Amino acid sequence: MQLHSYPSRLYPLFADLRGRIVLVVGGGAVAARKIVALLSAGAQVRVGAPALEHALQELAARGEIVHLNGVFQHDWLHEAWLVVAATDDRAVNRAVASAAEEHRVFVNVVDDAELSSFQVPSLVERGPLQVAISTGGAAPMLARHLREKLEAQLDESWAALTELLARHRQRIRSRFPVMAARRRWFERVLAGPLQALLRQRQPLRAEHALFAALSEQSDDNVRGSVALVGAGPGDPGLLTLRGSRLLNEADVILHDHLVSAEVLALARRDAERVDVGKHAGSDPATNESATQERIHALMLGYARAGRRVVRLKGGDPFVFGRGGEELEFLRAHAIDYEVVPGITAALACAAYAGVPLTHRDHAQSVRLLTAYRKGGDDDLDWRALAADRQTLAVYMGVAGLERLRARLLEHGRAPGTPFALVENGSRPEQRVVTGTLAQLPELAREHSVRSPALLILGEVASLAGTLHWFGSPPLAAQAVAARAWKRRYA
Ligand code: SAH
Repeated sequence: MQLHSYPSRLYPLFADLRGRIVLVVGGGAVAARKIVALLSAGAQVRVGAPALEHALQELAARGEIVHLNGVFQHDWLHEAWLVVAATDDRAVNRAVASAAEEHRVFVNVVDDAELSSFQVPSLVERGPLQVAISTGGAAPMLARHLREKLEAQLDESWAALTELLARHRQRIRSRFPVMAARRRWFERVLAGPLQALLRQRQPLRAEHALFAALSEQSDDNVRGSVALVGAGPGDPGLLTLRGSRLLNEADVILHDHLVSAEVLALARRDAERVDVGKHAGSDPATNESATQERIHALMLGYARAGRRVVRLKGGDPFVFGRGGEELEFLRAHAIDYEVVPGITAALACAAYAGVPLTHRDHAQSVRLLTAYRKGGDDDLDWRALAADRQTLAVYMGVAGLERLRARLLEHGRAPGTPFALVENGSRPEQRVVTGTLAQLPELAREHSVRSPALLILGEVASLAGTLHWFGSPPLAAQAVAARAWKRRYA
C-alpha cells in the first residue's frame, strides 16, 4: 500500500452536527459567519463572549443560539463536539485551543492553522452536493481560486441532479445490486441527457429519462445532443458561463470561422474540434449551401453516435447565424437540443467603441440588419431605415457600403449622419473608423476595413470620439480629404 509523502496532509471528513453541541468563542462578525454555517448544518450552537454583535443578539433572543456571557472558561467546553475560536485576541484563541486539546475536542482557530486541530475547507455547494477544497493550510488563496473556478463551472442543475438521484437511490440500488454494474450504469446515464434536461427546467422529462435508463437492458441508451452556443464577438470574457460550461463537457465542437482561438481554448482539451466555417472565396452561392448541408450532416452524425455536440457560432446564434435553420433540422430528426445566447456583434461593437445604441437625446430605437442579401436588398423598407433618431447596426456590410449610402441618401437620411465602423470588435486588433454617411465607403476603403466589421450608423455614432475606452481612438477622415467630401456632398 502506497502511503502519501505529505506528513501534514489532513484527513478529510464531513461531520454530521445535527443536534450536536458546538462551542463558538467570540461574538463578532467572524464568529457570526461561522455560526450561520454551523446552524445550517443543524448544530446546537453555544456562543461564548462578553458581548455579541447585533445579528447574534437577535439569534440569542430567538433562542436559536445560547449565549454564554463572559470571558472564556474551561467548563464552556462541557458537552461540546467541536470548538471554533473566533476572537481577535490570540491569547484567548490559544487558551481555547489548549483547553480543547485537553478535552480531546477538535478545535478550529479561525485563520490560524497552527492552533487548529481541524480546518474548514473552501466549499462549493449545489443543493445537497458539497465540494470541499483544502490545501492543508499551504495556500488558502489557491483553494479560493479553485473554488471560484468550480463555482463558475458547476451550474444549478447539479443540485437537481443530486436530489433526483437521492430520491431514486433505493430503486437504483435494487436494480443494480452489484457495485461495478451500478457504476457502469451511472457513467452511461450521466453521459446522457439527464443533466441537460434539468438545466432546461424539464424535471419530469429528466425523471422519465432516468426511469428509461433503469428499465433498459442494453448499453445503447446513450443519446447525443446538440447545444447551439453563441461564442460572442471574440473576447473570451464575453462568453456566457453556460456557454463555457458546455464547452467543458463537449465531445465535439463544430465551430464557425468567426469564433476566436481564445474562446476555443476554453473548451475541453480532448474535445474534437471541427472548423465548419464558410471561407470567403470561390462561388459563395453554391459554396454556402454545400457548407450548410455539411454542417447539418455533421451535427446529425455525431449526435446519433451519442456524442455531445456544441455547435459554436460567432456572436449570437439567432442573429444572422442561421441558428433557426439548424434547429428546424435537428427537430425534424428528433435530436435533443438547447440554445445558449451570445453577445451579438452589434452589442459588443457598440460597447467596445463607446457608442450607446440608444440614447435619450439621439436615438429611440435600434435596428439590426444585414447589407448582404442573396436576392438583393430591394425588398427592404428603405424609407423606414432612413428615418432619423434611430440607430442602424449593419452586419456583413463591408462590401455593400456604396449601395447602402446611395439608398439611405435617396430616402432622405442626412449626409452628415455620423457612423462608426468597427472592425474586429472586442478583439485586441479592434479598429474603429468614424465619419459621416457622405464619406462612408471612401473612408472604409482609405483605412482598408476588412471583415468582420460592423457598421453603426446614426446620431449616437458621434459619441465614439469622446466615449471610446478600448484600444486606439477612432480613426477619422484626414482633414484635407474631409474638406473635399464636404464640397462634394454637403
Ligand atoms: N451571429 C453573429 C453574426 C454573424 S454574421 C452575431 O450575432 O454577431 C457575420 C457578421 O457579423 C460579420 O460580417 C460582421 O458584420 C459581424 N461581426 C461578427 N463578429 C464581429 C466582430 N468581432 N467585430 C465586428 N463585426 C463582427
